[in-house]
Amino acid sequence: MADQTLVIAAPPLVTVPVRGGGEFPVRRIFCVGQNYVAHAQEMGYTGRDAPFYFTKPADAIVMSGAAVPYALETENLHYEMELVACIGAPAFRIAVDDALSVVYGFACGLDMTRRDLQFALRQKGRPWDLGKAFEQSAIISEIVPIAQTGPMASGAIELRVNGLTKQSSDLSRMIWSVKEMIADLSKYYHLQPGDLIYSGTPEGVGPVVPGDKIEGSVENVGTIELTILEPEA
Ligand code: MN
Repeated sequence: MADQTLVIAAPPLVTVPVRGGGEFPVRRIFCVGQNYVAHAQEMGYTGRDAPFYFTKPADAIVMSGAAVPYALETENLHYEMELVACIGAPAFRIAVDDALSVVYGFACGLDMTRRDLQFALRQKGRPWDLGKAFEQSAIISEIVPIAQTGPMASGAIELRVNGLTKQSSDLSRMIWSVKEMIADLSKYYHLQPGDLIYSGTPEGVGPVVPGDKIEGSVENVGTIELTILEPEA
C-alpha cells in the first residue's frame, strides 16, 4: 500500500468569506479578457472580437481591505474593476438558460495587471502569465449569495483611485453576460464548485503608484478596497 504521508506541508486552502457566514473554498480562477467593447478598444482592439480567457492561481487571492506591495518587476501596475461569478455546482456544456443555476454568488474583484509585461508578451505572441497570473493579483470582496444579488445582468460598476472616479460603467455593457460566459467556458472546462470567474473590466483602466487607495463597487454586491504599498526592497 502506498505511503500517503505528505513529504512537504500541504498548501493552505484559499477561502473567501460569504456574507451571512461561512467560507467559500477557491478552486480555480478564470478571467475573461475584453468583455466590454470600450475596454477592448482602449487595449488596441476593435471591440468586435469575441472575449477570451486567461487564468490566475487560487493563491493569488487577496481579501478586500488589504494593503499589498507594488508588484514585482513592473513599472506599470494597473487596476481592473470586475464582477466575479462564484461557481457552486458542476457545469459541463451547460445551456445559457441553465447557467445561472450553478452560480453560488457574486463578489467584487480587482484583476491587478502588470500592463508593461502583458503588452510585451502580447506583442511576441507569448502567454500572459507574467502580466496577469502573479502573486496577490486577484483581489476579492466577500461573496454575496445569488439569492440576495439577483442575476447581475445590469447594475453600476465603478472604481475610484484616491477618491477620483476612473471606471464607471454598467454590467449590461458586457459583451458576454454572466450566463453566456459560464455556458461558453463550460465547453472548454468541467467547471467545478469553487471556481471563480472574473468577468472582465470596463474602460478606464490605468496605473497605480505606492500610497494609492483603490475603491470599487458593484451595485447589489458591495464594495472592494486595496491600498498599494512601496515595493519590496
Ligand atoms: Mn481583467
